[in-house]
Amino acid sequence: MTNVTLLNCRPNGSESRHDLHIADGRIHAVVDSDNNAHPGVDNGQTIDVGGQIVLPSFIDGHCHADKSLWGEPWSRRDSVEVSMNQMFEDTLRQWEEITTPVAIRAGAFMRQCVANGSTFIRTFADVDPAIGLDGLHGTMAAREELADAADIQIVAFPQLGLLRRPGNEDLLEQALQAGADGIGGLDPAGVDGDAGRVLDIVFGLAGKYQATVDFHMHEDGELGLWLMKQIAQRTIAFGMQGRVTLCDVFSLAYLDADATRRAGEVLAEAGVAVAVGVHGLLPVPDVLTLHATGVRMCLGSDSSRSQWSPWGDGDMLSRATFLAYKSYFRRDADLEFTLDMIHTLGRETFGRPENRLRVGDPADLVVLPGDALGEIVVCPPRDRLVLKAGNVVAREGRVVV
Ligand SMILES: [Zn+2]
Repeated sequence: MTNVTLLNCRPNGSESRHDLHIADGRIHAVVDSDNNAHPGVDNGQTIDVGGQIVLPSFIDGHCHADKSLWGEPWSRRDSVEVSMNQMFEDTLRQWEEITTPVAIRAGAFMRQCVANGSTFIRTFADVDPAIGLDGLHGTMAAREELADAADIQIVAFPQLGLLRRPGNEDLLEQALQAGADGIGGLDPAGVDGDAGRVLDIVFGLAGKYQATVDFHMHEDGELGLWLMKQIAQRTIAFGMQGRVTLCDVFSLAYLDADATRRAGEVLAEAGVAVAVGVHGLLPVPDVLTLHATGVRMCLGSDSSRSQWSPWGDGDMLSRATFLAYKSYFRRDADLEFTLDMIHTLGRETFGRPENRLRVGDPADLVVLPGDALGEIVVCPPRDRLVLKAGNVVAREGRVVV
């Protein structure tokens, strides 16, 4: 492993410049750029970043690499109705029509995620009788190819429902046997219509295989809050604290601060994390109040360029921008909080090693131009240098490993 020194960095947007000496994949020393201190290791490669900001690399807590059409010609989406049934139909049509293998499309999309600064990605891989485990196997092949650039977790996911697509229970189990890190479910009440049965199946299988659980929940109002409590109870009953995540969670979006606090306390007590969804059609949760309750939380790039949604570009910094914009954040401390969500809090969500750019932390880094952290949230720069374990893995928008 080559030693690297990044000269003239501004770690976490600091005003003063520092040199980061990296050895064996970790930050070995952080010294003032003016004092030319020798870190005591062979310097190897030297990169002068000229006063750019250095951040811990990004964490993408929720994406759908297998469905992404990244690298394909733009696919027109003309469906008028925006409803779950329409999206299901569009997804089925995409599965039928797209012939490019999942491994190629998922790989193209996750390379885009890495080029944007993510070095940890949790992606969902659809399972369904229409496609079997093709999504999982293709995503696993892409993960293999990107092994030096990113840590990738794959959650097998019944995108069209578990009970409403007979065969999916078996496919989820086969996915765990084939190497999926976890299993998920979609709207156990709203789509499948029998939340108790869905939770029995998913928690039962996850317990059997020591896997993680990740539900996507678009149920809103009281139904969504009830479901959240059911999942929290199961998590405690199965001793799975720290291994259950909820994506989207529409029911959190319309709550006032008191109700957000109550919901947050339920989740925090059960050790259930939230991958906050930023959606065009509804408000975002009160993330500051939610965080204050102790809930582990992150952001995700979600569906990106597919028949499910044309939106998304695999850029976590843009997600932080959306979140800050929809939250009407105007103070720098709040803008900076959205950045925390895509690195420090994201790492905490998935039990990853801490990275605060201190000596001994993993050298998983993003270097990007800008004056201040608030500025890069409001106006994300495109030009980024990305390091994983001290190796440059992406520069100028392209993965180089
Ligand atoms: Zn999703």
